[in-house]
Amino acid sequence: PSAGNRPPLKVLLCAPRGFCAGVDRAVQIVELALERFGAPVYVRHEIVHNKFVVESLKTKGAVFVEELDEIPDGHHDRPVVFSAHGVPKSVPEDARSRNMFYLDATCPLVSKVHKEAEIHFRRGREIVLIGHAGHPEVIGTMGQLPEGAVRLVETVEDARAFEPAGDRPLAWITQTTLSVDDTAQIVEVLTARFPDIVAPHKDDICYATTNRQEAVKAVAPDVEALIVVGAPNSSNSQRLREVAERAGCPVALLVQRAADIPWDALPPLTSLGITAGASAPEVLVEEIIAAFAERYEVTVDSVRTAEETISFNLPRALREAAE
Ligand code: SF4
Repeated sequence: PSAGNRPPLKVLLCAPRGFCAGVDRAVQIVELALERFGAPVYVRHEIVHNKFVVESLKTKGAVFVEELDEIPDGHHDRPVVFSAHGVPKSVPEDARSRNMFYLDATCPLVSKVHKEAEIHFRRGREIVLIGHAGHPEVIGTMGQLPEGAVRLVETVEDARAFEPAGDRPLAWITQTTLSVDDTAQIVEVLTARFPDIVAPHKDDICYATTNRQEAVKAVAPDVEALIVVGAPNSSNSQRLREVAERAGCPVALLVQRAADIPWDALPPLTSLGITAGASAPEVLVEEIIAAFAERYEVTVDSVRTAEETISFNLPRALREAAE
């Protein structure tokens, strides 16, 4: 339709949204490694869970592998970057034994959870990790310690059924990208059943996850639909979609690119909320807004619930390259 007869659409942009400090750092590590050491730079696992980010790094010379043994023998002197989600201890050990040059892009807030786990272990505690089975961060955190030292609890039902393996004291830790509300319920069950369980200061859900969920809660009740820009394998993006739904938004969708917007499934809209997962770049948000602007007369407002100023240092091997 021409500009004259497009229906009006009020877009509310959640803020904060999109890239967090850990993702920003991880992407920079790959880019700087390419600048400084040339191509190819190997990356173990998607550096962050976003296809667009991965594809653009591939065009610059990054090569993505799932395991170190996929790196050809002649390329063991090339840098290999570990993804933001963290890796089991066996991975850097393996890299060292093969004389590989690795750069660790594990988010410092994930490393902090690894350290907590080690401290609990040293103090003789049995560790309960609240998280999602199979997510690379969970595999990485469990892999900091010998098999069986960390027990996974995914749901309230798991927490009700959990039986300690022995009579060691208990401690709980969490994945960084969980639903704040679901986690609180799981912790409530654990604490009621095991009053002496040792807890982190608050939980291990990171500031970025918390802030993005808060912003969605502020916007979701006021819009007819909410789009989360993000990937299906991105834990924090999935949680944002659930938060929108639970906050009463009738349609909550996870969308990777404008081409994936399911127009037929969307009712005619007068209001729309948009956010983006911590691994989704802002250009994809702009792309989604542009797609709506072809069908609607769009006005955009931002709803900000928190300011973010946090940033993380780069690994030493790259710091000079950044200057
Ligand atoms: Fe780090 Fe949180 Fe970002 Fe994950 S979502 S990379 S833990 S800041």
